[in-house]
Amino acid sequence: MGLPQIGELRHHSSMSPKADLIRHYRWLRRYGLNDSHSGNASVRDGETVWVTPTGACADTLTEEELVACRPDGTPGAGASLDAPLHLAVYQANPEIGAVLHSHGPYTVAMTLDGRDFVPVDFEGQYYFQRVPVLAISYDHYTRESPQRVAQALGSHKICVVRGHGTYAAAESLNLAYKWSCSLELSAKTTYIARTADIPGGTETR
Ligand SMILES: [Zn+2]
Repeated sequence: MGLPQIGELRHHSSMSPKADLIRHYRWLRRYGLNDSHSGNASVRDGETVWVTPTGACADTLTEEELVACRPDGTPGAGASLDAPLHLAVYQANPEIGAVLHSHGPYTVAMTLDGRDFVPVDFEGQYYFQRVPVLAISYDHYTRESPQRVAQALGSHKICVVRGHGTYAAAESLNLAYKWSCSLELSAKTTYIARTADIPGGTETR
């Protein structure tokens, strides 16, 4: 089938981690997984975690605007409001090197029922047998989301927070990007199958 093994998906970038973070955050926007100012991203760089700033614009963000944080510390001034979540993921999962948060519309729409997402397509099932969907109330988001998401990403490549978006974690930025894109394509495929009333389009396990 030509699908690479997980270990072969490692992406060894020659770019600096900060430059690599900028370009992946920009790609999430460019390819429709975020709008101009939504989502956030981080990358581990030795003892530092670089996090996108609060209110970041993916179209204009520069390396100088990234905020340095420590995995075991409090977020640096001006970091994304989701920075505590990113740091909790690194603390709980030492092998993780990058975290991406995006708002893929098909993924968000197709998981509004709150049930874990099971891809109907082959590649989606190959990568994600099941994608957990977390229900976190907006009122308690900043308090509950760091530990809930960090725990989910300990055993899954990506998770969804119902009505909000996805959090993907991997050893590299490109692999976290792959999980984000792949889930959105699976959700889009499911949407098409259900809209066209194709048998199997509503299959769940
Ligand atoms: Zn968000």
